[in-house]
Amino acid sequence: MHSVFEVLTTNRMKHVEMNRNIMENELNIDWSSLPFGYMPTDYNVRCYYRDGKWGEIEVSTSETIDLHIAATSLHYGQEIFEGLKAFRGKDGKVRVFRMEENAKRIANSARGLCMVPVPEKLFCEMVEKVIRLNARFIPPYGSGASLYIRPLEIGITPSVGVRSATEYCFIILVTPVGPYFKTGFKPTNICIMRQYDRVAPQGTGRFKTGGNYSAGMKSNEHAHELGYSSVLFLDPKEKKYLDECGPANFFAIKNGVYITPASDSILPSVTNNSIMQLCRDMGIEVQARHITVDELAHVQEAGACGTAAVISPINEIDDLDTGVKYKVATDGQPGPVSTELYHKLRAIQLGEEEDTHGWNTIIEGI
Ligand SMILES: *Cc1c(COP(=O)(O)O)cnc(C)c1O
Repeated sequence: MHSVFEVLTTNRMKHVEMNRNIMENELNIDWSSLPFGYMPTDYNVRCYYRDGKWGEIEVSTSETIDLHIAATSLHYGQEIFEGLKAFRGKDGKVRVFRMEENAKRIANSARGLCMVPVPEKLFCEMVEKVIRLNARFIPPYGSGASLYIRPLEIGITPSVGVRSATEYCFIILVTPVGPYFKTGFKPTNICIMRQYDRVAPQGTGRFKTGGNYSAGMKSNEHAHELGYSSVLFLDPKEKKYLDECGPANFFAIKNGVYITPASDSILPSVTNNSIMQLCRDMGIEVQARHITVDELAHVQEAGACGTAAVISPINEIDDLDTGVKYKVATDGQPGPVSTELYHKLRAIQLGEEEDTHGWNTIIEGI
């Protein structure tokens, strides 16, 4: 006995399968000019938590969800997400970068927002499945593009009273994204503005939740209006130490040492964690600690790091409240350490360099 839903899904899938076959040769994407944006793909995968347990993995061709108008995610922000990438390597194999770390992090975010965590095994199984289903959207090696994987979890229980949901929906969508640096790996200017905070001192900064992004939008827009690519937030309690750099972690190279802010309000970046390991491998000392604003006068390189760009080098940091401009890249070019770290990480992701830490999961047969 099939439920109506299953029959509908099956019919729709047959239809998509037909379209897919027709379109197979029509997937005419200019991979290297793709933006970092959303492009429809063939499938997404979903799983629901109901009656105290996670259900079966569902494959969907729909780009929308049917959500109760009183769902806790809509009213009280019970939403968490992740971002990771799959790459077609030099040897033709498909690699996902540090998927288990993202599985652990979203479970941690869930606990932080009183949501039910997705089991790590289920997370990884769904990542693999959605990649396989959309294999034709994995950009070719050499294009600089990759398949961006976006898992998200939302509370779906209707509730007007403030309480956590008892039912959840976990979805993974994928979309091909272009190379982050279209005009090359060029340093940009960022600013410090004390009138905005991204998160509260003991708040949700260390969880990957949409609310942190909406809280940062005003400042981000303001920075853009003033010609800066990002805001370098200060710690929300004392406004003394460097914190998150827009939606990315901050780092600097000071007298040959890799320094990065240690703070309870920062999201632990998988990219930053990987770069710190690469530094240790290269014999570069790593310090995760408080960094004061004035220390910026003594750094030789600075950058923001995250999955989207790996490293975005920083040219100048303008403190808009004191008027001090910290010129980091004296010749306007990315520094040697940032450049080496960037290329090393990319090389591991693309299978050009040995994956000595076992960071990649190879998806066989696609
Ligand atoms: C996602 C994110 C990062 C970067 O994390 P990665 O795992 O390296 O992609 C940094 N800061 C914030 C606020 C983020 O949401």
